[in-house]
Amino acid sequence: MSDHTTKRSNVDAVIVGAGFAGMYQLHTLRELGLSTRVIEAGSDVGGTWYWNRYPGARCDVESMSYSYSFSPELEQEWTWEEKYPPQPEILKYAQHVADRFDLRRDITFDTRVSRAVYDEEARRWSVSTDTGETISARFLIMATGCLSRPKAPEIPGAERFEGAIYHTGTWPHEGVDFSGMRVGVIGTGSSGIQSIPVIAEQARELTVFQRTPNYSMPAHNRPLEEEEVAEMKANYREWREKQRMSGFGVPVPLPTQSALEATQEERDATYQRGWDAGSLTELITSFTDTLTDREANETAAEFIRGRIREIVDDPEVAEALSPRSYPMGTKRPCLDTNYYQTFNEAHVELVNLRETPLMEITPKGVRTSDQEREFDAIVFATGFDAMTGALLAVDIRGEGGRSLRDKWAEGPRTYLGLMIAGFPNLFTITGPSSPSVLSNMMVSIEQHVEWITDCIAHMRENDLRTIDPTVEAEDAWVSHVEMVGDATLYPQTDSWYMGANVPGKPRVFMAYIGGVGVYREKCDEVVANGYEGFAFHPSPAA
Ligand code: FAD
Ligand code: NAP
Repeated sequence: MSDHTTKRSNVDAVIVGAGFAGMYQLHTLRELGLSTRVIEAGSDVGGTWYWNRYPGARCDVESMSYSYSFSPELEQEWTWEEKYPPQPEILKYAQHVADRFDLRRDITFDTRVSRAVYDEEARRWSVSTDTGETISARFLIMATGCLSRPKAPEIPGAERFEGAIYHTGTWPHEGVDFSGMRVGVIGTGSSGIQSIPVIAEQARELTVFQRTPNYSMPAHNRPLEEEEVAEMKANYREWREKQRMSGFGVPVPLPTQSALEATQEERDATYQRGWDAGSLTELITSFTDTLTDREANETAAEFIRGRIREIVDDPEVAEALSPRSYPMGTKRPCLDTNYYQTFNEAHVELVNLRETPLMEITPKGVRTSDQEREFDAIVFATGFDAMTGALLAVDIRGEGGRSLRDKWAEGPRTYLGLMIAGFPNLFTITGPSSPSVLSNMMVSIEQHVEWITDCIAHMRENDLRTIDPTVEAEDAWVSHVEMVGDATLYPQTDSWYMGANVPGKPRVFMAYIGGVGVYREKCDEVVANGYEGFAFHPSPAA
């Protein structure tokens, strides 16, 4: 595919990544008339949906909401088939968008950006790739994804294992047939919870290694009815506006009551509605204090534990699957299809790593503190070095040669999650300290892409060469994000939102929980106030 790309080494903008963020950014910059190159490590577009091809992979935001809104024609011509779309359907959609807007000719695939250095004299970025190319660009836009750098479990021995090891985040394109195999799955986050029931259908024996149980609820996935698709298509504009101004990018009625003021019956009826609807957003926003008060949160947590006890036959297994050590919603909760039911199958075993920790991977299988189990295949569903992992994997050097790794040694610092002081003309789409992963990410991606595009257009109209946030504005935003986060239960939990899943990573709440609508207003206000908090440098006189 890269053969068809226009390979210019001097461009207006380099975009790193061809997931939904990079694709849309390319489209908008092209419309602005900028020469643009996209560099993508994978062999095609789609990002998350190109890499995560594990069995059962699907979106847990409804398809008609988890899609681009920028083109009404695209909205009308594409028809989603399922309420929660599976990975192949989303990948097909990404490929359709690439074809429809002729994106691939400016994307260089199978190429990874390894280094980006800011040349202060030229006021340009020098971007190096692992294929030995260097591209000079005025703007550098990191569309590298919040969840794109897979993380293996921190246990020794994987290289000695005689069977196959797979990571959910880099699944083989040809698929894997587990029929007749003894399979071990490590990890019970969203990827584990989606893949375990499907792997169980094939495997002869399945062992699930669980360190922390998750809160999950049934997706009740189903094909979409023709009438509901037609109705959404007829009302798309209104719906999109609601998405943009909502809390999580998914419009739900706002709660008005505290969980602690409601009666047990009222609470249970409310939680049951969320459970029956298969709507995570509804469950976590059931009451005003679900995400801010531990006691209120506990009522929702206990509701879910009650459902687990109903579904799982063995009370000991049900208890092991029941989260108790952290508030519901403060680790990313999951939507599943038959997850808890899977543990009623005779050939499925749950290993509680809190009782018998993982020690090593052996040539034959996995050894915990009490025994070795033999496997033909092992699946790492162990997640990602989230939010900062893909950004810091690139050796980025800003003004004065300062590296981003140094700047973020104590945790990420950005202004609005869009830019970083000392790194002029470098933008991060859904960067740390923006709502990003706490939202329907399509909504957050589109908002960032459009803000960046408008900013570049503004610079062009006003003959401005560079933009850089001030340190004061960045410090104030970092403090604000921390303050808003501290008013919630999120920082109490060891989650990837906090960087706690990667040993040695600074413990910082890396997303903005103020809500996507509030955040959008803030970004718009910054622009209305003459790009408040940003400093521009004019272009040299011609
Ligand atoms: P990505 O899709 O991650 O794309 C980033 C791209 O950048 C990748 O293709 C990567 O190869 C490339 N890249 C990174 N570094 C480099 C480099 N140095 N050089 C070259 N290329 C590079 N979000 C939701 O809102 N709802 C969901 O239900 C949902 N489900 C998810 C399920 C899974 C399994 C995962 C992993 C994530 C899910 N997400 C979900 C989050 C998802 O990542 C976003 O919704 C969205 O797809 C992100 O798009 P993106 O373009 O920002 O990043
Ligand atoms: P994850 O949520 O980080 O889960 C990783 C799992 O692996 C956790 O259970 C973790 O246990 C376990 N683990 C990690 N290292 C381990 C070790 N050394 N030993 C034992 N266990 C270990 O990762 P993910 O499931 O890939 O999901 C990441 C994010 O991607 C999600 O939160 C979500 O945002 C997105 N996603 C969404 C969907 C969807 O339904 N739409 C599907 C997949 C992914 P601990 O909890 O104890 O750390």
